[in-house]
Amino acid sequence: MPDAVRSAAVSAKLLDGAATAQAIKQELRDEIAALAARGVKPGLGVLLVGDDPASAVYVGSKTRACDELGLHHETRHLPATAATDEVLDCIRAWNARSDIHGILVQLPLPPQIDSARALELVDPVKDVDGFHPANVGLLVQKRPRFVACTPAGIMELLQRNAIPVAGQRAVIVGRSDIVGKPMALLLLHADATVTVCHSKTRDLAEVTRQADLLVVAIGRAGLIRAEHVKRGAVVVDVGMNRISTRAEAEVLLDAERLAGFDRRGSALVGDVHAPSVRQVAAALTPVPGGVGPLTIALLMKNTVRSARLLSGA
Ligand code: NAP
Repeated sequence: MPDAVRSAAVSAKLLDGAATAQAIKQELRDEIAALAARGVKPGLGVLLVGDDPASAVYVGSKTRACDELGLHHETRHLPATAATDEVLDCIRAWNARSDIHGILVQLPLPPQIDSARALELVDPVKDVDGFHPANVGLLVQKRPRFVACTPAGIMELLQRNAIPVAGQRAVIVGRSDIVGKPMALLLLHADATVTVCHSKTRDLAEVTRQADLLVVAIGRAGLIRAEHVKRGAVVVDVGMNRISTRAEAEVLLDAERLAGFDRRGSALVGDVHAPSVRQVAAALTPVPGGVGPLTIALLMKNTVRSARLLSGA
């Protein structure tokens, strides 16, 4: 990275997802207390299959958030060799239990498992991840019940930071079922003019430079650089990529984070090249500490909501 980029003054406001996530969790405490007064303790069932280290970390963060808020949780950990039937049996059992209000199937599942069948078996009123086709359909019709936690968390971040959406030109890079597509629907319903880009998009930078609001969910470390961003845009970086070579770190990290990389030997970075994008964007979510904590806070919110719906409270 040129020294000029590394040492230039930071201009973008950092959108603190961790603080917003704390505020959301704080608001949930009253609701959890009201449910407790009626004898209801929200319960989350988490299904983890295999030994993917990233999945284990995400499950750990989710169950810690349950502990923090006093929610019941249980994790079923199946071996990487598990068959689809074992996964389906676990989901069936949780569907039938009145003390489990939310069911989360940690993705990705190993290739031998029919993921679509598993997600479709989750009772739609316990589908706190918002992946069931019934919940996706309700979102399409602007009658949301459970919305995928990451895009729902991004909407909360925008609202709570008074970032305008209506009438804005929003560009989303990435069209996955869990981030890009539901994000596009939420922004469309909030009256943005929405464009969705993907790996076949021609001249990506030309499209992304039109964005007042740019949401990036690709899974490629630092792919979006200053030349992709219009001056003054708001940039939301969903990407979570672990880097472990110094060559990558030198390109992707500023001097302060590079020192941290040298101590730890790895670093978590987004899909946005933060050192250069900070020079042109008006606001940017950091990685870590941006979208990640919001995803977890929204999972808690959906679980509490499910407990309220299922208990008739
Ligand atoms: P995904 O399912 O792999 O989808 C990636 C999307 O990016 C695809 O639509 C793909 O296009 C597109 N893409 C890939 N290379 C591209 C390129 N060079 N130019 C333009 N588009 C490109 O990923 P995902 O599940 O949405 O996750 C994306 C990232 O967000 C990952 O880093 C993931 O770890 C992170 N994530 C973070 C959170 C959080 O809580 N912070 C939650 C979920 C995901 P095609 O469709 O054409 O293949």
